[in-house]
Amino acid sequence: MEVLQLQSQGKLYVVGIGPGKKDLLTLKAYEVLKNADVVLGHKRYIEFIKDIVRGEILESSMGKELERVKIAVELAKDKKVCLVSGGDPCIYGIAALLEEYIEMNNIKINYEIVPGISALNAANSLLGCSVSGDHVVISLSDNLIDWEKIEYRLRLMLRCDVPLVVYNPSSTKRKNNLKKALEIVLEERGDVEVAVVKNAYREGEKIEIKKVSDVDVEEVDMSTLLIISSSERIVKEKKLVTPRGYSLKYEVGAKTKKAKEIAEKSAEFLRKLVPGDDLRSEIVRRAIMASGDLGYRDIIFFKGDPKVCVEALKSGAKIIVDVEMVRIGLRKDAIAAINFAKNSEDTRAADGIRNLGKEINGAVVGIGNSPSAAIALCEIPYKPAFIVATPVGFVNAAEAKEMIRNLEVPSITTFGTKGGSGVCAAILNCLIEYARSD
Ligand code: SAH
Repeated sequence: MEVLQLQSQGKLYVVGIGPGKKDLLTLKAYEVLKNADVVLGHKRYIEFIKDIVRGEILESSMGKELERVKIAVELAKDKKVCLVSGGDPCIYGIAALLEEYIEMNNIKINYEIVPGISALNAANSLLGCSVSGDHVVISLSDNLIDWEKIEYRLRLMLRCDVPLVVYNPSSTKRKNNLKKALEIVLEERGDVEVAVVKNAYREGEKIEIKKVSDVDVEEVDMSTLLIISSSERIVKEKKLVTPRGYSLKYEVGAKTKKAKEIAEKSAEFLRKLVPGDDLRSEIVRRAIMASGDLGYRDIIFFKGDPKVCVEALKSGAKIIVDVEMVRIGLRKDAIAAINFAKNSEDTRAADGIRNLGKEINGAVVGIGNSPSAAIALCEIPYKPAFIVATPVGFVNAAEAKEMIRNLEVPSITTFGTKGGSGVCAAILNCLIEYARSD
């Protein structure tokens, strides 16, 4: 009953107002600020929203958070009150203080937290995804936490090799914390790039990408957020991007200038040896590239049209390979038969192929290592859509591939003893890429 009575009279909103610019307020924040009887907050945040407010404004200064919470709780008994916080109120904001205060003092109050765009989200959008997946966040403020603990956490976080976001890097009183923190970064991660974002979406916005050793501690203030890059990063003028791995998965490609030069030279060389823009020529070039063996020009055999494989992949055919070494080399998810082996007299890859049974129907099957798996594939009553078989070795390899060629299934095989997991993966990747770009 008591709570119901409170609800009908007043309510406290803890409102995140985002980084500063009004168009980054949420609609909800805008509504509650406009309709509030009283709005309380630090004067620098009040500044951003005061022209929306129609009620009374109570400004206060830094360090008076508890006092502000107490006043807000009291006023909210019979008024609509907004307690504002920069960014999001739950992230290094005032919401946690309110939660602790009402818990410790057993206060019953009608309240709601209105989320906001945190400095991390704001900076991240300006930088072009410095945080694009896993990341860690730390505040260098030792107001509430001992510096030793911050240092301990910082070291552990840096060892994760994911981007590290630093809130509260500095204040006029705390320049030394940032200096010490940057030394630890240098020890743990080296002289990597750091994004220094000052006043994101506010007047005085400034974005710089620097090396850790070039960060000027004097230039970093309490309106600055730092993002320390991980070992995977793309740096471009004012952008610091952490790739999520799409390019690895979906694009073939050398990354550095040197690697690109090498790739271009070898592509040029191979084009002279195996000219032709068709899929078959490209497959032969890939096999030569993967093995360094020009002999592949003469030993790759195409039964049927490899475009059958491309079509199967395009319509979602599963890829099943014999061993992990082939699976790991692929630019698409696949399953390795060897993981389906039970107890058997046969090799594990062959046993896995048998146990996969009807899963083989309509699949694209790659055999890069195991002649026994290729033989098993010929013996089971299931029919793949396409086979790439390049098992290698001096026992049964040549015979197994001959058996594959005799199946009524289109395939790519090699004659003789040559082949291997790398060649199999290279051929499959060529087909996968063709299916994606076709
Ligand atoms: N609740 C806030 C964070 C408060 S801690 C939020 O969610 O964003 C204050 C710290 O946040 C500052 O010292 C600074 O590191 C960072 N910060 C807040 N607003 C910022 C902005 N517009 N640009 C850059 N950093 C900002």
